[in-house]
Amino acid sequence: MTEQHDVVVVGSANADLVVRVERWPAPGHTVPGSDLAVVPGGKGANQAVAAARLGGRVAFVGRVGDDPYGTLLRGSLERAGVALDALVTTPGPSGTALITVGPEGESSIIVSPGANGRVTPDDIDRAAGVVGAARVVSLQLEIPMPAVRRAAETAAAAGARVVLNPSPAGPVPLAVLALCDPLVVNEHEAAYLLDGAVGDPAAGAAALRALGPRSAVITLGAAGAVTADATGTARIPAPRVRAVDTTGAGDAFTAALCLRLARGDDLAAAARFAVRAGAAAVRREGAQPSFPTAAELP
Ligand code: ATP
Repeated sequence: MTEQHDVVVVGSANADLVVRVERWPAPGHTVPGSDLAVVPGGKGANQAVAAARLGGRVAFVGRVGDDPYGTLLRGSLERAGVALDALVTTPGPSGTALITVGPEGESSIIVSPGANGRVTPDDIDRAAGVVGAARVVSLQLEIPMPAVRRAAETAAAAGARVVLNPSPAGPVPLAVLALCDPLVVNEHEAAYLLDGAVGDPAAGAAALRALGPRSAVITLGAAGAVTADATGTARIPAPRVRAVDTTGAGDAFTAALCLRLARGDDLAAAARFAVRAGAAAVRREGAQPSFPTAAELP
């Protein structure tokens, strides 16, 4: 029998190539930068690592390339204790994100999908045992939509709960939205899906739910999150912390939410834990290195 995982993440793994600059190059220009840092990232891998660090039994479904970055990405997932039976090494480059961080800490990012762009519905069918045995299947939009859709359908048909974080913001077919429980978005993604500014967050979460998902969550940065499900809406304040680096806060939040839903919490209770995980992640630099352990969130 396939082992049941709390959370199965079907998604992306990227090598983040990070350089700091004092000023941005104009097109055709060259500027000096800091030493290059190569760190494991990608929304899927980040969420898998975050859920595992919180003590979850987690598996990852996706693809990495047969380049050195593929080895790096596989290694970081393995060290976190994520099951990798359904992680395929595919010929060609791994996903990479070219990240330039400016003097004020703002970043500009180019994502090259690489192996993430080669995840297919057939991959999901081959991993159907893992996906179907999950309590919660976590999805994002850094792999092609046909694979996202097949994963959502496979999970739902097997009785697993589907959580979709539609990031980077993009269109989501109604058939996929209808399977989400919840849809998890930040304010920018909410505005994209609602076709305009969110306004009152609770009304926004309810409006998102009206698009089809069984439940919805909007994360609000330092202001926490708001949830909407059949029982109504709930505002969940975030703990006050000194923010050092918000990279990965959304991934820490979503991973923690998925884990607590898998353990049987209702949506508002899971979100109350998730805001603590998100807040912990902004207190440290980076994405994966900033994710808290279960011991840090008693
Ligand atoms: P990112 O893209 O930086 O990973 P995001 O835009 O997807 O994040 P946010 O809404 O900014 O998502 O943050 C997710 C969660 O992290 C929030 O709901 C909150 O719980 C926590 N968080 C983020 N920023 C702060 C902050 N400054 N103080 C406390 N908690 C924070």
